Amino acid sequence: MSTHVNLTEKERLARLQAEIQQRTNQMIAVHAVTSVVGTSLDLDTTLEVALLVTMDMTGADASSICLIDEKTGDLILRAQRGWSQDFTQTNPLRIPAGQGLAGQAVTNDDVLVFNNRGGVETRAFPEFREEYFGSLALAPMHARGHVIGVLNVISNQPNRFDQNMVDVLRVVADTVGVALDNARLYANSVEQEHRLTAILNSTADGIIATDHTGHISLVNHAAELLLTIRREDYLGVPLREAPILPPIRDALLLALVSRSNKDRKSFQVTLADERIIAGLASPIYNPSPVDQCIPTDGWVIVLQDVTYQQQEQIARTKFIQAAAHDMRNPLSVTQSALSMLDMVLTEKDDRVQEIIGIARSGIRRLRNLIDNLLDLEHIAQGQNFHLIEISLLDVLREISLEAELLMRDKSIAFTSEVPPDLPVIAADPQWLKRALHNYLENARKYTDSGGAVTLRAYQEDGYIQIEVRDNGPGIPLAAQQRLFERFYRVKEHKGIEGSGLGLAIVKSVAEAHGGAVYVHSAPGEGSTFGLKLPFQDQTNPQNTASPQ
Ligand code: ADP
Repeated sequence: MSTHVNLTEKERLARLQAEIQQRTNQMIAVHAVTSVVGTSLDLDTTLEVALLVTMDMTGADASSICLIDEKTGDLILRAQRGWSQDFTQTNPLRIPAGQGLAGQAVTNDDVLVFNNRGGVETRAFPEFREEYFGSLALAPMHARGHVIGVLNVISNQPNRFDQNMVDVLRVVADTVGVALDNARLYANSVEQEHRLTAILNSTADGIIATDHTGHISLVNHAAELLLTIRREDYLGVPLREAPILPPIRDALLLALVSRSNKDRKSFQVTLADERIIAGLASPIYNPSPVDQCIPTDGWVIVLQDVTYQQQEQIARTKFIQAAAHDMRNPLSVTQSALSMLDMVLTEKDDRVQEIIGIARSGIRRLRNLIDNLLDLEHIAQGQNFHLIEISLLDVLREISLEAELLMRDKSIAFTSEVPPDLPVIAADPQWLKRALHNYLENARKYTDSGGAVTLRAYQEDGYIQIEVRDNGPGIPLAAQQRLFERFYRVKEHKGIEGSGLGLAIVKSVAEAHGGAVYVHSAPGEGSTFGLKLPFQDQTNPQNTASPQ
């Protein structure tokens, strides 16, 4: 009895030892695979090493790895070793999703084992039916919770893959899967980086980027050409200390520290060689899942050589100015001649008077057009534009007095809603008055006698908003988007004299101040034209405007 018990104990002990040995072998296998397979991030090297180590661990005579094409779900034979035919060179074999033994291993998501050839010929993918084997096992490889491919081992001997070997293969397959997935992710990220670098280097704009510490982290090819610098001399250097041409560096640093514009900062400089460089610095934000209000992660600075455009612009302005000037002289002569004709004519019949009146009105319109054109060119070029500190209240009071007189001759009721606590702002008073005059003149022009016009000003979100409201005909929605374009006139108002330049001038004035224009209107409900001007709120710096 006791002998029997002792034997069973021995058996149990032996079985336990065998199991421990098995587990130890598995762990040694996993350790060996992990330490060898994970050493490279190169996909081809990882595939090669994975095949070698798998064959070594399992004692297989041949092995192969198929990876799933994420787009189609097909399996692509990416690497093989010990096979008689070559399926990976030039055009790797593609096994449609779910087909063949490998497809079946993916569908079942489990190891598939054949310890003899029985029945395999008909189920295997046609191309593989010629391959000789004694036993065969296919293990799905997992990474990030998905099957990413199949690891296949072949032995010339039958009955090579017992349960113990299957367990080892399962673990090896997943270890290889993770290593291959890492290599594939790395290859993708390297490819993305190459693509991005290619884009950055083929763009015509110079691009410089800094990291969050202000050190230069990127200089593209166009920036090298534009600034005649070498990228190597700039990478890793603090922007402040980089040997960038002083006018550009100073303008850039000034733009970066300026408080008025929180987001995008633009500047333009003329270099000693007369090149004009325009720059735009924008902050880089890396959204953090924890804190959305993180400070910037650095800056990206885009530089453009705008000399050519500027020269074209200057030539155009010069041409318009010269043409306008030359047109003005004959106009003055014609006007004087008309006055003389009016004086010398003894017989003043109505018909003659009417003809002289038509000629005079034509001259006036032409003069207006020329003046407006010149003004528009001046303000668009920033000519005769000087920002000074002005009392907005004083300017609006002056404008209101003029508007009252202007409206009176058409019996239009004028109201001024200007609060006494308007701040001092940096503006060009002449251009500002000109812009508001255009709004008020339009309100008078398009509103019928007996109508009402209001001038209103208020502060909102770091902006001063000045609005002219009328109860005139209003403007169709489709026309509102184009109102501020040069020469645009609403076709419903064609009967009223005008050049279509008045609102374009207002827009240019607003933009020269770093502001904007807007209109709210509907046919039959009047119009409100607005001018938004940024200003530094001394009482509450948080309320300082930033450009949209
Ligand atoms: P214009 O010299 O033709 O008045 P503007 O540029 O000043 O040129 O205005 C462009 C067009 O906008 C005008 O032709 C007119 O149709 C429309 N418009 C401007 N102001 C008003 C207004 N207060 N009410 C209705 N329409 C207006």
